[in-house]
Amino acid sequence: MTVDYTLLEERFGDRLRRDEPLARHTAARLGGPADALVVAHNLPDLIFAARFTWEQGVSHRILGGGSNVLVADSGFRGLVIINRAAALTIGADGVVRAESGASLSTVARRCMARGLRGLEWAVSVPGTIGGAAINNAGAYGSDMAACVREVEVLRPAGVTRYAVADMAYAYRTSALKGVQGPYLVTAVTLQLAPGADPAALRAQAAEYIAHRKRTQPPGASLGSIFKNPPGDYAGRLIEAAGLKGARRGQVQISEKHANFLVNLGEGGTAADYLALIRLAQETVAARFGVWLELEIELLGDFSA
Ligand SMILES: Cc1cc2nc3c(=O)[nH]c(=O)nc-3n(C[C@H](O)[C@H](O)[C@H](O)COP(=O)(O)OP(=O)(O)OC[C@H]3O[C@@H](n4cnc5c(N)ncnc54)[C@H](O)[C@@H]3O)c2cc1C
Repeated sequence: MTVDYTLLEERFGDRLRRDEPLARHTAARLGGPADALVVAHNLPDLIFAARFTWEQGVSHRILGGGSNVLVADSGFRGLVIINRAAALTIGADGVVRAESGASLSTVARRCMARGLRGLEWAVSVPGTIGGAAINNAGAYGSDMAACVREVEVLRPAGVTRYAVADMAYAYRTSALKGVQGPYLVTAVTLQLAPGADPAALRAQAAEYIAHRKRTQPPGASLGSIFKNPPGDYAGRLIEAAGLKGARRGQVQISEKHANFLVNLGEGGTAADYLALIRLAQETVAARFGVWLELEIELLGDFSA
C-alpha cells in the first residue's frame, strides 16, 4: 500500500525520515529500515502522528527507547513513531506525572533528588516510562506495578485512565503488552513515598548500578532476552546448557550473563540474534525440559 505522508511532512518537515535504519533507534543497534519514521518531541506531535496512522489505516509502531524490541533485518513496513514527549511534574506529596516518552532513568533520578522513594531500582533501566509501564519493567525486587498509580491511554475513541489494578500487572507483562489494536500510552502517574533523604536514595541507586556493572555486559544488547521461568533463572539455564559465549556472526551469548545477547559490532544481524534465541530455547528445552519465553518483542517479518 502506498501511503501519502503529506500531512506528516507538513507538520514534521525533515523530522519525517524515509527508509530510516531502525538500528539507529534500538538498543541492540541492528535491524533494517522503517518505510518512514518520525520523532515526536512533544505530546501534541505524538498524538498527531498516532491519529494520522489510525485515520489513514497506516501500519505503525510506537517506540520509546527501543530497548525491548528486536527489529527484523528487513525492517518494518509502515511508520515508526519515536516518542520523546517527556514533560514531568513532581509533586511534594509523591505524585509524579510523566509523559510517556520521558526517560525512566531520568524520572528516577529527578524523583530521588526530591526525596521520593520507590524508583531507585530504575536508575539504570534503559527506555521510556511508557515502555516500562507496558512491560512492567523492574529490577532489584521492585517494578512498575509497585509505583504506578494510573496509566493514560489514548485510542481512536478517546482516553482511558487505567488504575494500577486495571493494568493486570504480572512479571514483565500487563494488560497492554502485546496488544495489537491502536493505542498510545500518553502519560504515566506514579505514587512514590515522600520524605526520604536524597543522599540515601542515591547511595542505594549507586549500589544497584555497581551491581549491574559487575554482572551485566556492556555494549549493544536488549537486556534480558528471556523471562526467568518460575523458581529459576534463564541465564543460569543457558549457562548450564553450555551456551555461554556461543556466537552467530557478530552476535554472542554474553560470557558475563547468559541471558544477554550482545551485538559485537558492524554486521550483527537480527537473523543471527534470532538463531541464538532459538538455539538457547531448544537446547535448554532438550536439557532441562523448560521452554524459555521471550521477554523482548519481535518487530517486523522474521519468516525469512
Ligand atoms: C542493557 C539493558 C538492560 C535492561 N535491564 C532491564 C531491567 O533491569 N529490567 C527490565 O524490566 N527491563 C530491562 N531492560 C529492557 C527495557 O529497558 C525495558 O523493557 C524498557 O521498559 C522498555 O522501554 P522502551 O521505552 O525502550 O520500550 P520499547 O522497546 O521502545 O517498546 C517496547 C514495546 O512497548 C511499545 N511502546 C513503547 N512505548 C509506547 C507508548 N508510549 N505507547 C504504546 N506503545 C508503546 C512498543 O511498541 C513495543 O511494543 C533492559 C534493556 C537493556 C538494553
